[in-house]
Amino acid sequence: MSSIRQTAAEMAAALAAGETTSVELTRQHLDRIGAVDTDVHAFLHVDAEGALAQAAESDARRARGELLSPLDGVPIAVKDVLTTTGLPTTCGSRILEGWVPPYDATVVARLKAAGLPILGKTNMDEFAMGSSTEHSAYGPTRNPWDLDRIPGGSGGGSAAAVAAFEAPLAIGTDTGGSIRQPGAVTGTVGVKPTYGGVSRYGLVALANSLDQAGPVTRTVLDAAMLHDVIGGHDPKDSTSIDQEWPSFTDAAREGASGDMTGVKVGVITELAGDGWQPGVMARFSESVDLLVEAGAEVVEVSCPSFVHAMAAYYLILPAEASSNLAKFDAMRYGLRVLPEGVDNPSAEEVMRASRDAGFGDEVKRRIILGTYALSSGYYDAYYGQAQKVRTLISRDFEAAFEKVDVLVSPTAPTTAFRLGEKLDDPIAMYLNDLATIPANLSGVPGISVPSGLADEDDLPTGFQVLAPALADDRVYRVGAALEALLAKRWGGSLLDRAPALAETGGTHA
Ligand code: GLN
Repeated sequence: MSSIRQTAAEMAAALAAGETTSVELTRQHLDRIGAVDTDVHAFLHVDAEGALAQAAESDARRARGELLSPLDGVPIAVKDVLTTTGLPTTCGSRILEGWVPPYDATVVARLKAAGLPILGKTNMDEFAMGSSTEHSAYGPTRNPWDLDRIPGGSGGGSAAAVAAFEAPLAIGTDTGGSIRQPGAVTGTVGVKPTYGGVSRYGLVALANSLDQAGPVTRTVLDAAMLHDVIGGHDPKDSTSIDQEWPSFTDAAREGASGDMTGVKVGVITELAGDGWQPGVMARFSESVDLLVEAGAEVVEVSCPSFVHAMAAYYLILPAEASSNLAKFDAMRYGLRVLPEGVDNPSAEEVMRASRDAGFGDEVKRRIILGTYALSSGYYDAYYGQAQKVRTLISRDFEAAFEKVDVLVSPTAPTTAFRLGEKLDDPIAMYLNDLATIPANLSGVPGISVPSGLADEDDLPTGFQVLAPALADDRVYRVGAALEALLAKRWGGSLLDRAPALAETGGTHA
């Protein structure tokens, strides 16, 4: 018998032992979605029929002894920014309402080729712009720990689905923190791989030079197993790295011993201190102490340019986004709105009316900002300067990684805030990504591991581990070590302590 509270690795083992079937597992998750998703709203589309059909195929394969991967038969949810053949892909925007893509993103194709049934598509801030999922045109997702609070963003749907046991695994995308920050505030694990480590083909672009898809899970081992499935070179993505990657599953298993002897850990000076929630800092320091007890050598490392990361990001991202979103012109696909009171409207008039009705405020804000930053006469002053800052941030990383193996910080400055609290204050919203943005600007990999509950509000907080580009195995090794050390301390999984989950339905065990 399987339980939706098991980890994906445990579900895979239960399938292998013949204790459950993929159809049963998939049905249990669909039941759970039916029971809690009216409250949580993690999903924009649920594909019960498709998931059960894929599950039946997995069971048939298993009976023939022809497994496609270690996760064959374990269901998964996918952020609605990745294209899926035959399933709507809205990116959380009205402008793509009803669009059904004619092709699968490479990540989705790889999930299918590995035999994972796809439960549905998860909610997100419109075009992945936001830190709370409140910018979704289809209504916010709620945090399973407290339904009046945000689940992080932009990938709040994927994180909430995993935290609420609606899915054991999910795919997110991280342009400035959208996998890691939702992980931190929902008590789940999120990984942003090295830029180019996971294909962006079929990932509807927010900012091409920053976007990266990655795993959203409840344990580090599950994330590693999922990364092994979705990662690796893809000729369809020109920025995909053409090299062999080590097994991240092996790295996570090795790390789980908790032995940190000989590992040099750098605490980033600039990503802590004033303005950080005391409970977040307390859990962070505790985790650092645990790493020291386990044999790590911990030093403080300064990355002076990181204080400019936000400013650079909010020029580079809008610049790329304004150009990427130009394709939503009501001519080829998606929403088309005819301007009122205009006979024979021109193409431009239709575009204007459609984009006005189809995009939300945050998207419009960034299109205006990006277009301005790229306009002639301002390009050097804004975009050009931001690119120079980006280089300085990469140099900070390079210098830091000469001294240490990994860098660490809290993942987000606060725990989950209340719905509506920061909605009218863009800068307050942007500040949530203070600690996650530098990794995107320089392409390095990072993980957020749940590090306990903040004392003030009993809400989850996350611990971020960053490694040099291509050294994703290190984030799994150190992440798994910390997870094991913390589990010993708590006597189990953090998610067992989530209050709203208990109220919104039982364990289908
Ligand atoms: N919150 C950040 C933003 O709004 C990050 C978004 C993301 O990673 N997709 O840009």
